[in-house]
Amino acid sequence: MLKLPTAALAALAVLAVGLAAPAGAGPQIPGLPKSKPLTDILKRADQLRDLVITEDEEIKLGASVSERVRARYGVVQDAAVHRYVTLVGTLLVRKSTRPALPFRFIVLDTDGVNAFAAPGGFIHITRGALGLLASEAELAGVLAHEISHVTEKHTVNAIQKNKLIQIGAEESITKNPELWNKLVDVTSDLVMAGFGRGEELESDRDGLKMADAAGYSPGGLGEFLKRLAERNANSAGKQGLFASHPEMKERLATLDKEIKARKYASTVVLPDRYRKTISYTATPVAEIATVESGSAGLAGGTAKPAGGTKPPEEPAKKGFGLGSLLKPAGTEKKSAEVTGSAASRGVDTERNAKGGAVKTMVAVKLTPAEVDAFRKEGNLKS
Ligand SMILES: [Zn+2]
Repeated sequence: MLKLPTAALAALAVLAVGLAAPAGAGPQIPGLPKSKPLTDILKRADQLRDLVITEDEEIKLGASVSERVRARYGVVQDAAVHRYVTLVGTLLVRKSTRPALPFRFIVLDTDGVNAFAAPGGFIHITRGALGLLASEAELAGVLAHEISHVTEKHTVNAIQKNKLIQIGAEESITKNPELWNKLVDVTSDLVMAGFGRGEELESDRDGLKMADAAGYSPGGLGEFLKRLAERNANSAGKQGLFASHPEMKERLATLDKEIKARKYASTVVLPDRYRKTISYTATPVAEIATVESGSAGLAGGTAKPAGGTKPPEEPAKKGFGLGSLLKPAGTEKKSAEVTGSAASRGVDTERNAKGGAVKTMVAVKLTPAEVDAFRKEGNLKS
């Protein structure tokens, strides 16, 4: 498919040739109509428009992406765990820039330590991540970071900015199933690939602000990231290099600087309340069973753009986001399915970890009174 930037360049080139010709010289080759290619190209450029995604469409898109994430990893069928994560998430959403968006918190049934934010408010955190977290403040730090990816529309903006979906002036994204499926494909790929450095640092900053405003110690995210780096340092193979990754050092230093600069002083940590509901323990990286990237029903992983789309001009920087934190550079496993120490072969174990069989979402209904009681019990801010 003809890409708009190419068409625009071609149009400029044709225009330049046209201008260079002596005035009134007419067609260079007699018999050919003047400037026909230019007319065609401009006409085509006219027929494309910028993709606009309404909030309703954003939520519908997020629901479809979440369905794929759940199909890949499965969902923990534990109502108490979902209720607890949703309570913490709800307190944070109240302090976010989109407090009215109906956020949903989903615990994925996998040993891999990960979290994924899909547009429209679908926040996924893995059982493995819950096992590695040590307190409610750390959980709040991770959730707030993910919530910020949604409130700042990082994924939707990337699709629009990079023109990953070509849409005709007269077309509707929701009424064209083919276009909609392409949009879900592209969005799923982006959500799984993780974000670039700029988006990650922005979500780190926003997350600190949200956590502090809710009353949680803003050090939670950094504590968790340090533990994640240590977990990685002890594993065999390429992932071990990650421990001295300059981006991680930069990220932790930026978090500390921000806490001091903004004078964030909230102190609630709640390790005991966390452990009362969350009894998971993290499986060592070397013992995590993995499946081939993208082999279990998720478009993401192999990051091949669907027809009619093109890859981002600035692909997400590998190894920076939470989702791709442990991704070794440029390694993809080729075998169908293995168990055991994939980390020693340079596989992105956390992301390629096996998922559970049950994909059903666990519904959580909370009344404002329940959220308030939870907040008061934890001495958190209203
Ligand atoms: Zn992130």
